[in-house]
Amino acid sequence: MKSLVMFDMDGVLFDSMPYHASSWHRAMADFGLDLPEAEAFMHEGRTGKGTINIVTQRQLGRAADDAECQRIYERKSQYFNQFPKPQRMPGAIEAVQAVRECGITPIIVTGSGQLSLLERIEQNFPGLFRHEWMVCAKDVKFGKPNPEPYLMGLKKAGVTCDQAIVVENAPLGIEAGHAAGCFVVAVNTGPLPDKVLLDSGADILFHSMAELSQHIKPLLTASE
Ligand code: MG
Repeated sequence: MKSLVMFDMDGVLFDSMPYHASSWHRAMADFGLDLPEAEAFMHEGRTGKGTINIVTQRQLGRAADDAECQRIYERKSQYFNQFPKPQRMPGAIEAVQAVRECGITPIIVTGSGQLSLLERIEQNFPGLFRHEWMVCAKDVKFGKPNPEPYLMGLKKAGVTCDQAIVVENAPLGIEAGHAAGCFVVAVNTGPLPDKVLLDSGADILFHSMAELSQHIKPLLTASE
């Protein structure tokens, strides 16, 4: 029997990844750097600085300094904010409700640091998440694939890794959940092949949050 489900946010609860990928691509291009949109999905979960350095190392043979990182990241945020507010992922509310129906606590573990985060979550998932145990950008030093965000979630909730399930859409997030010792459910809501998510350490894979909502209860109540 599990007692905690840690949901990633972008690409799991909100259909925001296409906006992030496009914003990354356009911001990089403005600075003469090339990050194809498809590749941006591979970097999901990394810190902004981490993503920028991968591209500058590859193209310029050096890391970006702090001022460059700030300029590029600000541009990326500008582009992202020009998009409409991301919609709730279809099936996500049913999935979170299914967790609640099992008497299990759902929390959010995200690298996002958007100021309006809590408000947006409450608008879209009213009363469903336990906010005191939420983990966001300000709580952690390292981005995914470091297990820190998920370890922090376990710590806040006061449970051990064998009592928790992670729900993730991104390879680096799956790696982080796996490294934290949790059972990891992959939901492939993006353009990457299933194999990439499975090779990152996913224990099971679904193709939508709707599919996950149909199958999550047995995973939560199994007594291993
Ligand atoms: Mg994600």
